[in-house]
Amino acid sequence: MPHGREELFLPELCTGIGGRKMGHDPNCIFCKIIEKKVPAKLVYEDEHAVAFEDINPQAPIHILIVPKKHIQDIHSIKHVDRELIGHLFFVAQTLGEKRGLNNGGYRMVINNGRNAGQTVFHIHLHLLSGRAFSWPPG
Ligand code: AMP
Ligand code: ZN
Repeated sequence: MPHGREELFLPELCTGIGGRKMGHDPNCIFCKIIEKKVPAKLVYEDEHAVAFEDINPQAPIHILIVPKKHIQDIHSIKHVDRELIGHLFFVAQTLGEKRGLNNGGYRMVINNGRNAGQTVFHIHLHLLSGRAFSWPPG
């Protein structure tokens, strides 16, 4: 399947029996943001993903890039999700260009699972920029 936003294959992001949205968790804070039921400072949106400012920023720029489909963590990614997951990196690239982050650079983080510090179980990329970061991470 060729790349491109319009070509993304998302069979599970549709309305199921009884009008219930598949790929959506009504108790999930990020699903609520996507549904505009909880406010957030949105910096990007397309058919498949949103990006918004982290409520507790760890750097001058701290953006969360989130697929509209509710996927809990890396372990829950299905074969059909691979273009969607790749798409998140194109969103990061778009934001990096839009905000002029390419010279100084930025850090992308996925906290996967409790030991890694994951607190919201709807997969997301952290995009952090505007300061230097140390390595290894804490
Ligand atoms: P993680 O700990 O990797 O799961 O990241 C979850 C991130 O979501 C944290 O950095 C939180 O500060 C952020 N967060 C939680 N609730 C909200 C919210 N309502 N709006 C924006 N960011 C949020
Ligand atoms: Zn969710």
